[in-house]
Amino acid sequence: MLKEALLWEEFTGKSVRCQLCMRKCNIDDGNIGWCQTRLNKDGKLYALTYGKVAVLSVSSIEKKPMFNFFPGTLWLSLGSLGCNFQCHGCQSWEVSHCDVKKGLSNTSYLSPEMAVRKAKKNGCKGIAFTYNEPTMWFEYVLDVFKLAKQEGISTCFVTNGYMSPKALDMLAPYLDGFCLDVKGAFMESYTRIADVSDINIVFSNGSDAKRKFAIHVEIVTNVIPGYNSNEKEMKEIAAWIFAELGKDTPWHLTRFFPYGGLKDVAPTPINQLENLRNMALREGLLYVYISNVSGHEAANTYCQNCKKALIKRKEYDVVESKLKEGHCAHCNAIICGRFAFNG
Ligand SMILES: [Zn+2]
Repeated sequence: MLKEALLWEEFTGKSVRCQLCMRKCNIDDGNIGWCQTRLNKDGKLYALTYGKVAVLSVSSIEKKPMFNFFPGTLWLSLGSLGCNFQCHGCQSWEVSHCDVKKGLSNTSYLSPEMAVRKAKKNGCKGIAFTYNEPTMWFEYVLDVFKLAKQEGISTCFVTNGYMSPKALDMLAPYLDGFCLDVKGAFMESYTRIADVSDINIVFSNGSDAKRKFAIHVEIVTNVIPGYNSNEKEMKEIAAWIFAELGKDTPWHLTRFFPYGGLKDVAPTPINQLENLRNMALREGLLYVYISNVSGHEAANTYCQNCKKALIKRKEYDVVESKLKEGHCAHCNAIICGRFAFNG
């Protein structure tokens, strides 16, 4: 049975206009939208991927990556098919950019009740929607999140931030963590990296998540040499985080590895990531991490006051924590984030 979609309006005749993301596709009867997950059937819009799980794992929150958000806890992590971006170096091409209608035969149905039960059974702190863009199965995410909150399970959304403001409004009351992928500061970079040309919404959604809805926000930027890696662009992102989200907002600088359409681009030099991290710290950000570099000490959380290591990580696991109820065990400074005692 098809699930009727949320967030669309009648257009002309049997055409509809999808209002889920900023592409706002006009979809004729019998056709699907740009993301392939929405079908117009007889003038009504349906969500093709409701509950259709393509990827499922129980993994640490560090893998999202979220570092100042219940560090070291396990999360039921779910992904489906389809995306509203087309990133040439996408690491989850198989699920994000497959033929969605055909790919559905390789998914399994997991009801919202079963998802919450599975999270509890596996001792998970919460449920995270990740792998593909979770906006694409909005109706399911919303149903799972509503049930999760009733059952005391936390929620996390790993996203490109391109949903409509209305979609964010509807998710926000049930959302604890928002991991936002910022691909650059300038339109030109977004167009080259992701084939997207209107990027203001990414920044306003990030800002609304933090300021308007008080959701815990962390920013992730995959630093791609020759695309967004120049200091000017990265400084813009740091300045935006500082001004709009606050200096306590963690920023993850991820090392790029060649993949898919960007397989000829070299991996990000580690010293470039270190220089960018130092720049961001100079700009005033308190928690700047380097991700995807095995054993790098910038994967640890440091106290912004005494500079000592508080949470030591190895790969994606917490191996030591000197955090005492959200305070530094060395100097008692308050560490910003959501931790077990205030979650
Ligand atoms: Zn300290």
